[in-house]
Amino acid sequence: MATAGTARDGNPPAGSKGGTAPIFNEGTPPGGNSPGDSKESPAPFHNPPDATSSEASPVLEARDLRKRYGEREALRGVSLSASRGELVAVIGPNGAGKTTLLSILAGIQKPDGGSVSRAPAEIGWVPQQAAVYGKLTVAENLELFARLEKVDDPRSTVERMLDLTDLRDRADDQVSQLSGGNRQRVNIAVGLLGEQPVLLLDEPSAALDPRQRERVWEFVLSLAESGTTVIYSTHNIQEAERHAQRVLVLADGELVFAGSPRELETAVEQGEDGEERSGKGAGSFALSPDFESAFVAFLRQRGH
Ligand code: ATP
Repeated sequence: MATAGTARDGNPPAGSKGGTAPIFNEGTPPGGNSPGDSKESPAPFHNPPDATSSEASPVLEARDLRKRYGEREALRGVSLSASRGELVAVIGPNGAGKTTLLSILAGIQKPDGGSVSRAPAEIGWVPQQAAVYGKLTVAENLELFARLEKVDDPRSTVERMLDLTDLRDRADDQVSQLSGGNRQRVNIAVGLLGEQPVLLLDEPSAALDPRQRERVWEFVLSLAESGTTVIYSTHNIQEAERHAQRVLVLADGELVFAGSPRELETAVEQGEDGEERSGKGAGSFALSPDFESAFVAFLRQRGH
C-alpha cells in the first residue's frame, strides 16, 4: 500500500535508509548518464542553474531527467531536489515540460533517461484533471479512493482527511455542490491518502477565482508547514513568488533558472551580462504585474 515505508514527516521508517540512500526508481544511478543519451544539452546559462537544495538529505531528488515524444524533446536533462516541508514552484510557458516533469516525478510516465529517488507509492500526485466523482459525497469519495489505494484503515483515513481538509461539515455534501476551492481540497486529499511525504500538484489553482485560490493555498501551505514537501506547477508567476521558497523555470524542456523568488527577480532585472535593465531595485517586481512581462523578457533573452 501507499503508506509502506513512509511517514507523514517524510522521514524513513526505522531501519530504512530511505531519506539518505535514494531508491532511484528509474534506469540510471545518481549522476549517471542514460543509455543512448550521448548528447549533452547546451548549458542555458554561463553557470548552469542549480536546482538542488542545500539540505544534506533531500526528501526527493531527480537527476538528469530526459523525455522525448517522437522528435520532440520535452525534458532535456533536468535535475532537482527538494527538502522536507519545502514549497517548490515550477513555472514556464506552455509546452515547457512542466507536466512532463511532474508526471515523471510521480511515476506516471517513465523518463527516457535519469532517475528519481523515490518510488511512485511514496509520492502524492494531483493531476490537473480531477479524479473525484461529483455525484458522490466528500466522505464517499475519500473512502472510495482510500479503498482503491488499499490503505490499512479506510474509515480512519477518511476521518483524518476530513480534518486535514477542514471539510468535516461538508462530509455528506456531493462534491459537485462544493466551491472550486473546496473541490480542489478534496482532490489534493485524494492525492495524499497514502500519507506520502511528497506532494506534486499540476496547476492546482488553474480555473479558480482569487478567493477560491486562497482557499486552496491555505490548505497547501498548511501541508507544507506540517512537513510535506510540495512541488507544484503554475502559470501564475505571482503565485510562485508568493507561495514558493524555490522557483524552477523550465523553457523548452530545459531548466533555465533555479533559485528563490528574490533571486529570480534579480535575474529578471539583470541581463545575462549582469547589467541592470530597468534601473529598478531588487524586489521591485515582487507581486507586481510588471513581473510577468519582465519574466517573458527574461526567457526571450535566453532564446526561448
Ligand atoms: P502547459 O503549460 O501547456 O500545460 P507544460 O509546460 O506542462 O505545458 P508539457 O505538457 O509537459 O508542457 O509538454 C511538453 C512538450 O511535450 C510539449 O511540446 C507537448 O506538446 C509535448 N507532449 C506532452 N505530452 C505529449 C504526448 N503524450 N505526446 C506527444 N507530445 C507530448
